[in-house]
Amino acid sequence: MKRNYIFFVFLVFLMLKTSAQSIQDIINQTSLANVTLYVNELSGEVSTVVGGNTVTITHRVSNNDNNLAADYIKEKLTGFGLTITDQVYTPGATGGRNIIATQTGVTNPNNIYIISAHYDSTHNHGADDNASGTAAIIELARILSKYCTENTIVYALWDQEETGLNGSAYYAQQATNNGDNILGAFNIDMMGYDGNDDKHFDIDVRPIANSIAMKDEIISVLNNAAYGIDLIVNVVNPGSPDSDHSSFWNQGYSAVLFGENWKTNDITTGYHSDNDRIGLFNMPYYHKMCKLVVGYIVTVASPIFIDKTITQNGTSLSSNETGSTYQWVDCNNSNTPVFGQTNQQFTPTVSGNYAVQITKNNCTKTSACISFNVLGISDYQLQNIALFPNPVKDNLTITGIQNNSSVLNVKLVSITGKEIFKKILTHSNSKINMQSLATGIYFLEITATDRTKKVFKVIKE
Ligand SMILES: [Zn+2]
Repeated sequence: MKRNYIFFVFLVFLMLKTSAQSIQDIINQTSLANVTLYVNELSGEVSTVVGGNTVTITHRVSNNDNNLAADYIKEKLTGFGLTITDQVYTPGATGGRNIIATQTGVTNPNNIYIISAHYDSTHNHGADDNASGTAAIIELARILSKYCTENTIVYALWDQEETGLNGSAYYAQQATNNGDNILGAFNIDMMGYDGNDDKHFDIDVRPIANSIAMKDEIISVLNNAAYGIDLIVNVVNPGSPDSDHSSFWNQGYSAVLFGENWKTNDITTGYHSDNDRIGLFNMPYYHKMCKLVVGYIVTVASPIFIDKTITQNGTSLSSNETGSTYQWVDCNNSNTPVFGQTNQQFTPTVSGNYAVQITKNNCTKTSACISFNVLGISDYQLQNIALFPNPVKDNLTITGIQNNSSVLNVKLVSITGKEIFKKILTHSNSKINMQSLATGIYFLEITATDRTKKVFKVIKE
């Protein structure tokens, strides 16, 4: 019976898509589809899922049990892996409840930037006031939570803005009591409406702490041509105190209000009525406003970019991030570290799924798992393996390894069965130095991919 053997030699060179490596790339992740969905869910236009149940957030009215909205926000932010503070400052279903998520800076954890919006409303829907700002923050958290940041970002969604800025006032007082080093509180209130399509928006500011410099930094993000955010700023100074940023001004912190164009009264026609619905939004405007929020906060957060992609070629995997600390892990075994594999490059000796943990500037990120097949020698090829000279004095050469995408696992064993060493041989590296070994009889075990073995008796002279 004749058996036919067909060999496939795969030389795989796989360059995965390069991950986002600049602030511009992060800004471009801002999804209009996502924020539209969040606004629709928060303003009761569509149902959503909270706590595993299909629900509709029929309203978010202050002091009127708006806990379903708070639960929705909490679940979204928890899902991004952020640390949540469920801040109930007035107990009871109709009380006050802020949802706070913290992303702690890995370099300067005490440098705190706050991005905030109130989620409560005066009427049903409240799409522009202020599901628009709430949704922008959820989208920002989705994007930025994937990165380590040098500074700490606090995502804050306030309750009871409409009844006296109660939620933010409580938080800002606590921050003062704790001595929190808040470098800026960026507060959004109403950001989806541009009725005359003139692309204008307002920044309300006052000369309190570094609020003016904060405003300038927002404008510098706006003016970065590479970001392509073609909006037009109106600086209002002295700015309105009628939203949550003024709770921070009152404590002497830097803060600004960001939103649509109150200065020329181009605000939603549904303001403080049941008509404040997403149908009135100017979607291209809203998308750009969200991008500006993301661009500013990402800039002050100062992300640490780690390239998590891996390049695979024939016999090895290589992290595309340079100059870092590495640990290769076995994805098939709960990401257990592969012992001793702490270089940028890794040559697996066993087929499997591998990932690399990369540590840089106190930030550790793990790549996706990559399937790797060790291109070993087949049972058939094993029949072609031979060695010479035998008896041997110094170098023992192994022949029959067909090409460099095949590797051969060999083990030298003494006559008493003691392992002397293991080695991986290739076509171009197929010699074993026997010079320093004592004279006598040895056994060279050669293992094929399918685990069949061949053993040669070797005589050392
Ligand atoms: Zn508002």
